[in-house]
Amino acid sequence: MADSLKDKLDQVLLNVQKPARYIGGELNSVIKDKQDVDIRFAFCFPDTYEVGMSHLGMKILYSLLNDRDDVWCERVFAPWLDFEEQMKKHNIPLYGLESLEPLSEFDIIGFTLQYELSFTNILNMLKLGNVPLLCSERKGLKNLVVAGGPCACNPEPLVDFIDLFMLGEGEEVMHELMDLYKASVKANDTKETFLQKASQIGGVYVPSLYDVTYNEDGTIKEIIAKENAPLPVQKRIIKDFDSVYYPEKFIVPFIGTVHDRAIVEVLRGCIRGCRFCQAGFLYRPFREKNSDTLIKNGKSLCETTGYEEISLSSLSTSDYSQLESLLTEFIDYTNDNQVNLTLPSLRVDNFSEELLEKIASVRKSGLTFAPEAGTQRLRDVINKNVLESDVLNSCTIAFAGGYTSVKLYFMLGLPTETLDDIKGIIELAQKVVNAYYEMENRPKGKGVQVTVSVSTFVPKPFTPFQYEPQDTLEMIDEKQKHLVQSVTSKKINVKYHDSKTSVLEAVFARGDRRLGKVMLKAYQDGCYFDSWDECFHYGKWMKAFEECGIDPAFYANRKRSYEEVLPWSHLDYGVSERFLQNEHQKAVASTTTKNCRLQCSACGANKLLGGACFEY
Ligand code: SF4
Repeated sequence: MADSLKDKLDQVLLNVQKPARYIGGELNSVIKDKQDVDIRFAFCFPDTYEVGMSHLGMKILYSLLNDRDDVWCERVFAPWLDFEEQMKKHNIPLYGLESLEPLSEFDIIGFTLQYELSFTNILNMLKLGNVPLLCSERKGLKNLVVAGGPCACNPEPLVDFIDLFMLGEGEEVMHELMDLYKASVKANDTKETFLQKASQIGGVYVPSLYDVTYNEDGTIKEIIAKENAPLPVQKRIIKDFDSVYYPEKFIVPFIGTVHDRAIVEVLRGCIRGCRFCQAGFLYRPFREKNSDTLIKNGKSLCETTGYEEISLSSLSTSDYSQLESLLTEFIDYTNDNQVNLTLPSLRVDNFSEELLEKIASVRKSGLTFAPEAGTQRLRDVINKNVLESDVLNSCTIAFAGGYTSVKLYFMLGLPTETLDDIKGIIELAQKVVNAYYEMENRPKGKGVQVTVSVSTFVPKPFTPFQYEPQDTLEMIDEKQKHLVQSVTSKKINVKYHDSKTSVLEAVFARGDRRLGKVMLKAYQDGCYFDSWDECFHYGKWMKAFEECGIDPAFYANRKRSYEEVLPWSHLDYGVSERFLQNEHQKAVASTTTKNCRLQCSACGANKLLGGACFEY
């Protein structure tokens, strides 16, 4: 099969953009003999090769699975439209990049759920791989479809299609699942028996073992666990993060990808508690690696890949407790080896002059800050503990260091937002412009450019704003107009995105099981690659909702009471509902919460560690 497919590929790849997306064979990709393994695992990223190949979680789990002698893990990405057309024309099924064998040949098909707008790509990939879409149509253990990643925190819209979900961090649970699968195949277990056994693994959620009933108003009445399935299902974390598995090699793509460099993962979790940020709550509690471990990880990756760039990855790298010593050591290494260091996710309030100097000595690129809201009142609502003076000081330091452009990120539609808050975005940008011109030693003959980049707020599960309605499309359109009309200077450039995709994101983020039929209908009508502007069909989506008798506003624009059973109420990510409700009340009162390093706010996530998160 692989040979005949290879022959076909040789012909058709000449007709598509970027054929390197579809051929495999990159440095450090893993080839095994299928006869020598017990489990063939397809790691599927429901987006293009360039997006998927940039994803750290995929790199980690690909290596972790392939380090086992009994598993061969391959990569599968969503083919772009031109190649899909060729695949259909030449009868080529979607295949694993290592063996070039069809998806239907794999034992386990695993998807990573990074964003809601990739959900329909899952359906398209299964279809192109000749794998039945519905769990009920896949009878045996072959083609078991599993998923993990941040959107697994509310997987309910996907339960018609995915047999089980892994909640939280995958490095341990993945091994346990492989061991069970192998044993179940040997024991000739039915799929139902396997799934019941899998539900007993910590962090594994098997939706078919839970019944959901509804009230007359459409809200959920009850979620009932069957066959001894756990209630709630608690996410998994790696307690000893310093010794967690980390790959020594990354696959080196033939073509440029979104992030094409060595990455070291500095820490997991976040101490900050920004109330809109789902990742900040989902990945709690905060854990970090020792700087020695990180240096070792970084050096090993550069040596095995030939990469000349290392980036430090986390939700907030500037909160890393050993940052100064890490940077010092890394800068010595990178200087000696002609390697660049990049440092994303900087917060403005601890952006010291010394730190900036260190970074500036290795790399000079555009600066980005994320005040998120234009007024102090609204920044307090969202618990973004950043003052206007922090933003201005950081920009002034950066300007003094030679930077002449700054990008500021904001959100529109945050809870309690008024038109004054929107005007405040531009006023803050203007103050940044003024700060540049007030500087005596500014670069001669150069102007400043401040880009205001605005996204639409989407309320997410497991955040204090999970109860809040999203603004309607009309409200967001009005606010965008108001923002643009408030601009006072040519030095300020406003960028925003069509908010229709945010509506869909809001629906699926807090959706329930009834949305599966809408997703299927929209997909059958041609909706996939929804996060790509050129492929997004809002009209088709709205038609699918209408035909299924489901009102998207029920999910996107409705306020939830604290008493409501939410579609994810049976899943436990460590953070308690009581804490989220308390934070929600504090938000409405514009009261802030201290970061975890200063004071524990008793969110509940420390139970996953079995002790306190920090010593105070
Ligand atoms: S238990 Fe306390 S310190 Fe730990 S994550 Fe929650 S609020 Fe932060």
